[in-house]
Amino acid sequence: MIASILPTYARAPLTFTSGEGAWLTEADGRRFLDLGAGIAVNALGHAHPALVAALTEQAHALWHVSNLYNIPAQQTLADALVDRTFADTVFFTNSGTEACELAVKMARKYWYDKGQPDRTEIITFSGAFHGRSSAGIAAAGSEKMTKGFGPLLPGFTHLEFGDHAALNAAVSDTIAAILIEPIQGEGGIRQVPDQCLKGLRDLCDAQGILLIFDEVQCGMGRTGKLFAHEWAGVTPDIMMVAKGIGGGFPLGAVLATQDAASGMTAGTHGSTYGGNPLACAVGTKVMEIVADDAFLAQVNRTAGLLRQKLEGLVATYPDVFESVRGVGLMLGLKCKAVNTDVVKAGYAVGVLTVPAADNVIRLLPPLNITPADIDTAITLLAAAAHQVQGDNA
Ligand SMILES: *Cc1c(COP(=O)(O)O)cnc(C)c1O
Repeated sequence: MIASILPTYARAPLTFTSGEGAWLTEADGRRFLDLGAGIAVNALGHAHPALVAALTEQAHALWHVSNLYNIPAQQTLADALVDRTFADTVFFTNSGTEACELAVKMARKYWYDKGQPDRTEIITFSGAFHGRSSAGIAAAGSEKMTKGFGPLLPGFTHLEFGDHAALNAAVSDTIAAILIEPIQGEGGIRQVPDQCLKGLRDLCDAQGILLIFDEVQCGMGRTGKLFAHEWAGVTPDIMMVAKGIGGGFPLGAVLATQDAASGMTAGTHGSTYGGNPLACAVGTKVMEIVADDAFLAQVNRTAGLLRQKLEGLVATYPDVFESVRGVGLMLGLKCKAVNTDVVKAGYAVGVLTVPAADNVIRLLPPLNITPADIDTAITLLAAAAHQVQGDNA
């Protein structure tokens, strides 16, 4: 008989009942250091007092009103995002995949309104992840995500990650947009080099193509800048955000320039819950804390510390780990052992990591993780590696 929860997840036998900072407590009382942060969602850890206060204050005042009316918390958050980024305008969603839906719609509507209705094709790259909606899986294009779910939404050209010749050959006047994660998350913490992001921007400018960055995982301070593309000194026309922006409350967003968003007039898009008062009250507080230069400087210091210690860990366990990759606190350990074995060994010793493609385990700790917790992280990861090494001996 089918489980009462649709069995689309192979869940670990862990049930967390409370959390504080970078730590989670299991129903049996065991404590786990959370280096996954709900896959880069709990940007400020668990039960951050300022977020709890923002949520409860809003909960006592007003939970929900329709987007038919003004929502002050939504206005505040939109203004803060516009103030701090390339964007002129923001639409709020509940998730990353909904942000993908709008990014695709916005790019197509842009060309439709410019009198080029056949300019609908969107270029994406192997290893990408853009969510689980019909547009999201069609954008990623991998067999793993699309098999059995046809007919797929048409209009995506899938190129090999890093294949510049294929990219240049694919460019034509039917291409509406290029959609790319500056750092692939699910794909195994694969960074697009800064010079390649610059090259993409130049290519898009030369051809009039819209450039869409998916910063759902790498954005909101994760890399030590508010958004990852800031490291490369280029900006997109449209950007998808989610995960960390709500600090654990479901919230996503599409940010865009005035020009890119010009087709999205009243009635062309909407969402019942998107930008709901509760979500935006929390999102505003997250933004206030994370967009602060001193906070981001601290993220970079913490990231430097973690990375240095991880390099040491790789050197100590060369049979288990191969290398460290990533930027800021979006780090991956490329494994020599089977990555899921390392994740499972982590469960046994009390540390949570997240597997990714390319035999990588992801470390996406809360951005405010303390130096003491970083030390503990290394001790626990070493214990997990020791266990895997013993199992393989
Ligand atoms: C998680 C993720 C998504 C999808 O977000 P959901 O909130 O799960 O719909 C899209 N793009 C990237 C890069 C992601 O990491």
